[in-house]
Amino acid sequence: MEFKNFSLFISQTKVNRFATDLAEGRILSTICKKCGKQYYPPRADCPSCMGIEMEWKEIKTEGKLLTFTRIHVPPEHFAVRQPLMPFSSVQFEPCPIGILEVEGGLPVMGWIPKMDIKKIRVGMRMKASPFTLPDGKITIVLEAI
Ligand SMILES: [Zn+2]
Repeated sequence: MEFKNFSLFISQTKVNRFATDLAEGRILSTICKKCGKQYYPPRADCPSCMGIEMEWKEIKTEGKLLTFTRIHVPPEHFAVRQPLMPFSSVQFEPCPIGILEVEGGLPVMGWIPKMDIKKIRVGMRMKASPFTLPDGKITIVLEAI
């Protein structure tokens, strides 16, 4: 799988493995071999000590929800199209998105497509998982545990 299938149209990157492992169900971080700082999303180089030697480490994907909001114009794969008033075309149903704090304090952002936003609470336990969309792109979803 090419990196561009996960995110932007970038195919050359030192963190290409992130997309490959995501497709296989693992969410990876990078750790600086020089200073030990851990990064998620993975970084190719360490902005803290300028080290260029990084190693990969799978992250624990369970944690507590730090914050959430909803996107009113989500990408089509998360949008349920609803007819609006007679003279307009369509409207997208807002989709919740949140940031989960996992082991090591790492923030993992993901969509929360299966929950009513009224039932989502800051601090609730959730799990982040890679999710393959119908168009083949991969994203991360958060689910309550
Ligand atoms: Zn470092």
